[in-house]
Amino acid sequence: MFPTSFLRKFLVVVAAAAVLAACGSSKTNKGGNFSTKGLRPPVASCKVKPSRLGLAEKIRDIDERNGCQVTNAWKVESLGSVRFSQPAIMNCGVADPLYTWLEDVVQPTAQRSFGESIVSIDVAASYACRPRNKRSGAKMSEHGFGNAIDIAAFTLESGRRITIAEGWWGSRDERRFLHTVHDRACGSFHTVLGPDSDRAHRDHLHLDLQNRANGSTYCR
Ligand SMILES: [Zn+2]
Repeated sequence: MFPTSFLRKFLVVVAAAAVLAACGSSKTNKGGNFSTKGLRPPVASCKVKPSRLGLAEKIRDIDERNGCQVTNAWKVESLGSVRFSQPAIMNCGVADPLYTWLEDVVQPTAQRSFGESIVSIDVAASYACRPRNKRSGAKMSEHGFGNAIDIAAFTLESGRRITIAEGWWGSRDERRFLHTVHDRACGSFHTVLGPDSDRAHRDHLHLDLQNRANGSTYCR
């Protein structure tokens, strides 16, 4: 048994920490402040379990109590035959369209462009509690809902890497491949951003499923 005085001190410390955490999260977040005004949580349900599409496991839901939250959270390490450079944390709704895009768009386009398949993608970001474009004061990024993935490169069977930073403006085959997979992500993903959108996306493709009230897409 702990002495009562120790227990009392312990409880005071815990309560103080809880108050600090609550104050801290409402004002400043690790990635700077952001606004959540007008944001609609994503549809995080899914018809197919990600573990049936690749190497994936269900993890505990995330709620940082500042707007950043992932319901139906999964840690995904591969989809189909495509490995991820690092595990991606996403809500369940993201895995199926990502799998379909990789299998039905990326792989056939890689075959046409290079005569070989993609074996892995460089995941630059998945779940991240931060403002859009890491710009303090902006709206919370869809990454804060585990509703987005950033892809910086595709690696072929031969080991050749096609990076967004170089390939977007690079050789004909790399340009054609990257522009095609970017353009054809639009629709199954609601937001698709690449180097043509702004400097923040000069080195990766951002794909998300933002739940806009009017159901529109934004692809650039
Ligand atoms: Zn992104």
